[in-house]
Amino acid sequence: MGELSRMWREMPSRYRMQGDRCGNCDQVYFPPREICPVCHRDSIGKMKDVDIDGAGEILSFTVVHEAPPAFLRQKPYIIALVKLKEGPVITGQIVDTVPEEIDIGTKVRSVFRKISEDGKSGVIHYGYKFVPE
Ligand SMILES: [Zn+2]
Repeated sequence: MGELSRMWREMPSRYRMQGDRCGNCDQVYFPPREICPVCHRDSIGKMKDVDIDGAGEILSFTVVHEAPPAFLRQKPYIIALVKLKEGPVITGQIVDTVPEEIDIGTKVRSVFRKISEDGKSGVIHYGYKFVPE
């Protein structure tokens, strides 16, 4: 737990999940959008930043056995469609569990994890993944 909270403190704010809420129809989008795809011009100037809590549930999932090179050390891995509490449905990797432990409807929460590391430059890329609650 100490490791995780330290990581959070060091995480730049751009790694927090931020979406947009349309002030016209109240729909929330993640990633954020400039214009609501439903309201079009009625949403111009009405899109408001909204923090995405990161809680959601699994709508469907698939276990990927053929991993691209960057993921070699973590195969097989689980990719799921997650419906966020705020409404958006996004694709994400489910980590810290095994396929037998999850199901459709399993509650999950987003975490920020290392996605890939550029060996030459030492640049580490972070992104969101999900863990079961
Ligand atoms: Zn809208």
